[in-house]
Amino acid sequence: MAAGSPVRTVVVDGLALAEEIRKDLAEKVAALRAAGRRAPCLAVVLVGDDPASASYIKGKRRACERVGMASTQHELPATASLAQVQEVVARCNADPGVDGILVQLPLPKGLDPNEVTSRIDPAKDVDGLTPWSAGCLLLGLPSLVPCTPLGILKILERHEIPLEGAHAVVIGRSNIVGKPISLLLQRAHATVTMCHSRSRDLRALCREADVLVAAAGVPRLVRGDWVKPGAAVIDVGVSEVDGVLTGDVDTESVQGIARIVTPHRRGVGPMTITMLLQNTLQAYERRQGS
Ligand code: NAP
Repeated sequence: MAAGSPVRTVVVDGLALAEEIRKDLAEKVAALRAAGRRAPCLAVVLVGDDPASASYIKGKRRACERVGMASTQHELPATASLAQVQEVVARCNADPGVDGILVQLPLPKGLDPNEVTSRIDPAKDVDGLTPWSAGCLLLGLPSLVPCTPLGILKILERHEIPLEGAHAVVIGRSNIVGKPISLLLQRAHATVTMCHSRSRDLRALCREADVLVAAAGVPRLVRGDWVKPGAAVIDVGVSEVDGVLTGDVDTESVQGIARIVTPHRRGVGPMTITMLLQNTLQAYERRQGS
């Protein structure tokens, strides 16, 4: 894009896209039911009484219900031992009526999330967090892939953002967002730069991006003068500032610069839940051999 050219920034409606995909998922589940088959089922495991986690779980179960999927909830107190949490996971693994297992993170202090998520049967790993799923993603083998990165790809696809040969810059290197989205973008033939808290001159790195994914959890880290004109800017971050939810991108200041930007509400979030539903259906189909 020529310097100085005006850019009409599209603010992505992630909720509308999510609703569209959920409608399609609901039709697929209805067809299964009409054929006399059981609905796909997601088991959610909640440890402790963190209100935010309880609210996320509620949203995910409601989303299941709306597309006709079943869900079960397994609650443990914050004082639960690692063995107790692992035992719940083992029960869900063994239950033939469960297709997907989600352990809501973060876990209470003292419980190593890896010691829990690594116990999930990879065939039911709808969050894509087991070493098996992560290894498959790295090797380019079929597997269940973390939901937020899948949602980001759908958004980029819907807005026809070219990835082949594009320079993608990802801020963040977590197992759930930064690493998997970097691998997926690379798989789509983008040239990927992964940044993190020790990266030098983040602004200069971001200015190079045709696709910029901000997943640092730092409120308004990315401002207009960090963005290359015409770039696609994906805001994954969710932080609370004075009781108000805030993203990693200062959305206002990228207007007129970015080609598209996802807002911190109705952006990536609804797509993440939708991809959880999609993964649950995928896990069901693979387990049923359909
Ligand atoms: P995380 O595990 O805390 O990872 C944050 C990453 O950002 C780390 O790699 C960290 O670097 C890097 N980072 C932190 N501060 C930075 C800075 N100033 N400059 C550059 N890099 C920096 O977080 P996460 O689980 O990936 O989540 C990231 C954000 O996305 C959070 O706000 C989370 O709430 C949000 N989120 C939203 C959704 C959604 O559906 N909307 C889904 C998942 C996550 P180091 O590795 O060096 O520490």
